[in-house]
Amino acid sequence: MDRNTSTVDAVIVGAGFAGLYAIKKLRDAGFRIQAFEQGDGIGGTWYWNQYPGARVDLECWDYSYSFSPELQDEWDWSERYPTAQELMKYLEHVADRFKLREHIQFNTRVDTAEFDETRNLWRIRTSDGKTTLARFFVPASGVLSVPKPPEYPGVDTFKGEAYHTGRWPKTEVKFEGKRIGVIGTGSSGVQTIQALAGKCKHLTVFQRTAVFVVPAKNHALTKAMRDRVRLGYAERREISRITRFGIAAPMSVESALEATPEEMAMKYENAWTNSQLLGFRQCYGDILSDDKANETVADFIRGKIRSIVKKPEVAQKLLPYGFPFGTKRPCLGDTYYSVYNRDDVTLVDLKATPIEKFVPEGIVTSEGLIELDMIIYATGYDALSGALTRIDVRGVGGRKLTDKWADGAKTYLGLLTAGFPNLFTVTGPGSPGPLANMSMSIEQHIDWITNCMTYMRDKGYDRIDAQPEFEESWMQGVQDIVKRTLYLKANSWYLGANVPGKPKVFLPYLGGHGTYRKKCESVAQAGYEGFTLSKSTSNTQETAGAT
Ligand code: NAP
Repeated sequence: MDRNTSTVDAVIVGAGFAGLYAIKKLRDAGFRIQAFEQGDGIGGTWYWNQYPGARVDLECWDYSYSFSPELQDEWDWSERYPTAQELMKYLEHVADRFKLREHIQFNTRVDTAEFDETRNLWRIRTSDGKTTLARFFVPASGVLSVPKPPEYPGVDTFKGEAYHTGRWPKTEVKFEGKRIGVIGTGSSGVQTIQALAGKCKHLTVFQRTAVFVVPAKNHALTKAMRDRVRLGYAERREISRITRFGIAAPMSVESALEATPEEMAMKYENAWTNSQLLGFRQCYGDILSDDKANETVADFIRGKIRSIVKKPEVAQKLLPYGFPFGTKRPCLGDTYYSVYNRDDVTLVDLKATPIEKFVPEGIVTSEGLIELDMIIYATGYDALSGALTRIDVRGVGGRKLTDKWADGAKTYLGLLTAGFPNLFTVTGPGSPGPLANMSMSIEQHIDWITNCMTYMRDKGYDRIDAQPEFEESWMQGVQDIVKRTLYLKANSWYLGANVPGKPKVFLPYLGGHGTYRKKCESVAQAGYEGFTLSKSTSNTQETAGAT
């Protein structure tokens, strides 16, 4: 073997929440591992998303690792929804506390991954020109990590500064005295807009689709608050593991259609006042499955928007229509709607006045030129499958992953895709992924993967592949579940609808985190039902659950 090639048990991609936990779990289980990270530091999503106002929209108690009670006890969060900077500090602390850095090679991109069928090894080539041979390939490279560029003519001609929220520079960006345009009003746009209003000369928001923004009610945490959560933390985590969204939030089973107007008004007012991401969805069991039930929430929030935004013509543009509440991820924000009462903020409704082109001085809409010094693209991501399809992955018979997924990504259990043995996806297509608490989902995936690899090592197997019929049936199940909901009515990134040319297939499993966890456990207990396990040396093969 030449000096440029090394061999390990597993290559992990990424040093964010998923990558760090994969390093810890697999190393502690005795596997030799190598992790590659494109950035020059720890943090993954939070490393890249240092845009103004960036913070998580799940409470810190839930959006954090649960694997170590000691870590849970010693880390003091400062706010209910920590900033990207605080999350970075937390992840850096985790990396140092558990001595994970030594396994990570920073500033290194994985370019290609090719499966060697004769030896059941992945041959992984990286941007430093080196090759790593690995039995297992674990891309933990994130669900929302490949920024979607804007698709307008003349984008490159713009003379001013231009940034994507998902690739925020590490150097200081100055906003004072500048005319800034923000394109996009999803979670990233909403946070950026709130942070920049009043901090620059003029802010112009280019809105294609108005979103539902519910109050964040972020606040600083006191010691008493932290102590209270710690008292019941173990139980809170246990409950989270069996719930639909991976957090301990009770979900009502009542129908909104059977509620009296007074009851409903009280519940919705309470959800607005004591807000959190799931607040409104907790109120009734049919909000995500019945149009009329959904409209009651949508209507309530539209009423709030009208009452906050002083100019009726601006309020009108901000009213979300055309998709049911919750089918695009709702955003959290405390000042979002009131920002539009400022004289130094302008809202451009792109449905009425579309962008025609970019020019050196700014953006030309159907109403003329808007001069800008800076443009911020909050235009989202090639979600779920994007990070994996950016790598040139070739499986059995040299088949490209991009060819296999040309009509939509397919996996069995969101864990392996047939024809690409020993490649484990983490919170990817076919898993609950972003529709549940990501940190809880990540731990569940990595625990399952580690147990599976340990089982294979103990039994002498060196290859695992998903059986195509199980994969088909799993993905069919994913589609059957979503058809019972309202999610297909929105052009969301869950569906790939935000990326021109991407097949429109709903990728997350909507059956719930708890149900999914149980299914994964029962598959493992049945000897990895639906997977084929084999040994290259003896050519022994075991097909679990074959019909
Ligand atoms: P996003 O939800 O996909 O929003 C992108 C926005 O850009 C949408 O308003 C979209 O409009 C608009 N857009 C896209 N292309 C455009 C174009 N060519 N012209 C004009 N507008 C365009 O992306 P995101 O805001 O980055 O959020 C993605 C996900 O990341 C969130 O849903 C959330 O899960 C996660 N996130 C979480 C947090 C948090 O924890 N607080 C923060 C940021 C992000 P359309 O709706 O019309 O497509």
